[in-house]
Amino acid sequence: SRLDSDEERCNQILRNMEASLTARDRVGIQDFVLLDAYTSESAFLDNLRKRFHENLIYTYIGTLLVSVNPYKELDIYSKKQMDTYMGVNFFELPPHIYALADNVFRTMLTEFNNHFILISGESGAGKTEASKKILQFYAVSCPSTKLLNNVRDRLLLSNPVLEAFGNAKTLKNDNSSRFGKYMDIQFDHQGGAVGGHILSYLLEKSRVVHQNHGERNFHIFYQLVEGGEDELLRWLGLQRNCQLYSYLVQGDCAKVSSVNDKSDWRTVQKALSVVDFSENDIEHLFGIIASVLHLGNVKFGADPRGYAILNNNPEMHWLSKLLGIPPQVLQQGLTHRKIEAKAEELFTPFTVDHAVYARDALAKAIYGRTFNWLVNKINESLANKENSDWSFYLFIYLFIYSSFEQFCINYCNEKLQQLFIQLTLKSEQEEYEMEGIEWEPVPYFNNKIICDLVEEKHRGIISVLDEECLRPGEATDLTFLEKMEEKMGGHPHFVTHKLADQKTRKTLERGDFRLLHYAGEVTYCVMINGEGEIEFGGYYILFFPIKVMRQSKNSIIKHCFPSTEPDSKKRPETVVTQFKSSLVGLTEILMSKEPWYVRCIKPNEGKQPGRFDDVLVRHQVKYLGLMEHLRVRRAGFAYRRRYEIFLQRYKPLCPDTWPNWKGTAAEGVQRLIKHLGYKPNEYKMGRTKIFIRHPRTLFATEDAFEVC
Ligand code: ADP
Repeated sequence: SRLDSDEERCNQILRNMEASLTARDRVGIQDFVLLDAYTSESAFLDNLRKRFHENLIYTYIGTLLVSVNPYKELDIYSKKQMDTYMGVNFFELPPHIYALADNVFRTMLTEFNNHFILISGESGAGKTEASKKILQFYAVSCPSTKLLNNVRDRLLLSNPVLEAFGNAKTLKNDNSSRFGKYMDIQFDHQGGAVGGHILSYLLEKSRVVHQNHGERNFHIFYQLVEGGEDELLRWLGLQRNCQLYSYLVQGDCAKVSSVNDKSDWRTVQKALSVVDFSENDIEHLFGIIASVLHLGNVKFGADPRGYAILNNNPEMHWLSKLLGIPPQVLQQGLTHRKIEAKAEELFTPFTVDHAVYARDALAKAIYGRTFNWLVNKINESLANKENSDWSFYLFIYLFIYSSFEQFCINYCNEKLQQLFIQLTLKSEQEEYEMEGIEWEPVPYFNNKIICDLVEEKHRGIISVLDEECLRPGEATDLTFLEKMEEKMGGHPHFVTHKLADQKTRKTLERGDFRLLHYAGEVTYCVMINGEGEIEFGGYYILFFPIKVMRQSKNSIIKHCFPSTEPDSKKRPETVVTQFKSSLVGLTEILMSKEPWYVRCIKPNEGKQPGRFDDVLVRHQVKYLGLMEHLRVRRAGFAYRRRYEIFLQRYKPLCPDTWPNWKGTAAEGVQRLIKHLGYKPNEYKMGRTKIFIRHPRTLFATEDAFEVC
């Protein structure tokens, strides 16, 4: 009978879980929530290490997925594996990114709400790979029609294009994303993907003109030079030799063994055509990539007064041709600064240093804006053309520390932690209180105080920095530090050279300040550059007249420098301010969705398989907030459902509630779970919701429902 088979399935789930418990000595536990010594960081680490050595890279903390980068190919991503995970309850199978993806998808379809998956971890921890695995899973699992296939294919194909233009080899990762990225996929009510959108922010533009030793520029440059067809290179004025281009050789590693620029070039070409790029677009796009390379080779001489001049630069010819701007105009723009005084236009010549700075700023601006254009173009091609009313969104948010500034990275971490606290710890506790559920609060450190120190209006570090940046020539690193001392000297998380001895008893250099971050203290150095100006997340000004760029015959450039933009911004935004706005905006978006987390951990610094560095992992466990998360999970209830929703879904399981229940939803649920045999310690009834302690209880019910 039906009930027998229900019971059998429930027992099977329990047997699986018990089997995994008995195997724990060898392979560890697949859900940290089941760990006996759940408050011990060492026990946490032991479990993670044990599993890592068994090639079990995934472990749950409730529904949060912890992933440790194996640095080797594992046979766990086949189509067969995908099928195994499709439509199966979360805890029935070993932890997997597919299980998470599948669970998100099904929750969305049963509860009709929006979700996001937040993937975080440091560079090289496996975030990009995780997001690709999720996309691949959806590409196979969601129902398809012709239209849907289109969106799915495009989502998958946009990835190599974005990687070519936005990824680079760094010391930590041969294919490191150098921009923050989040994407959403829009599903219709049957679960078909009908649209998508990608948001990128803070591309690391400085990489275009400068790379540290052992690092490369963005992949696309090398792909073009290595893989571009002879005819194309001839047309672009390029030669097939990366060593000839000064923007490509500063890191001294144009070739990387793990990267095949030639075959990647072909992949990108193919992808560009699928994602709706016209021939004209593609031609102009590579015209721009080539002009950046030419720009990097432009050399300035000095006239007798030390001002920059351009003699016989062959690059100027190609620049002029590819950008579609007359050579004299280009030349003027690269060597002079335009000053608008009343009705007059004055040109003052650059020194050689200034000219180099202005040239690099132009290269960065061209590349950065082209990148944005590219993302927009991809978005147009992914846009939902159906306009169905019945759709909801899944956001996949890759928390990528693209930032070049340590400060931005750490600020990012703080923001992430804050979001996490708000969404998980705080809201969880608040919800129990609101629902009148008895429980013991878990203490946590609220890092709002540190976020405020960085971002508060008029008082935070970013504000002070902005103010100082508005006084070019007057502000120096020391005035910046003094201002900070004045405004935040008393702050418990802020230390400078003057305050160091009293607060932390550790000395600091004169130009340094220290922040006591959530995850530990970090010292920042404010540099004095040649001009005595601040070099700490400062702004760059595009000296090159935007008006000139507007004359360009290159359609992309024309588009990227629109006539609505003022020629010289009165109040340039500093890099950190831009960063702050993008982070704040993003947090707001994420706050309104149901969160899922993937926490990626890097097991060692050497990209080596099989090596688990305890100190390194312990640090990540700490700043990813995993122990806190575990404590909350342990103390709380894994699942909760509004009475109405719970009753609506499961009422067929009980003759009293089916087909219609006349009383209140809460009473109906009470009757229903009594019939299902829930034990008193397995659940609690709140004001508006039922709280279920362990997922297995709900899954047994869910299974019963599916059988019926
Ligand atoms: P991040 O985006 O966090 O900087 P990536 O996702 O690019 O890091 O991962 C860095 C490298 O680690 C990848 O290029 C790949 O070689 C390896 N890697 C990451 N995740 C996995 C995985 N699940 N299986 C095998 N190798 C992986």
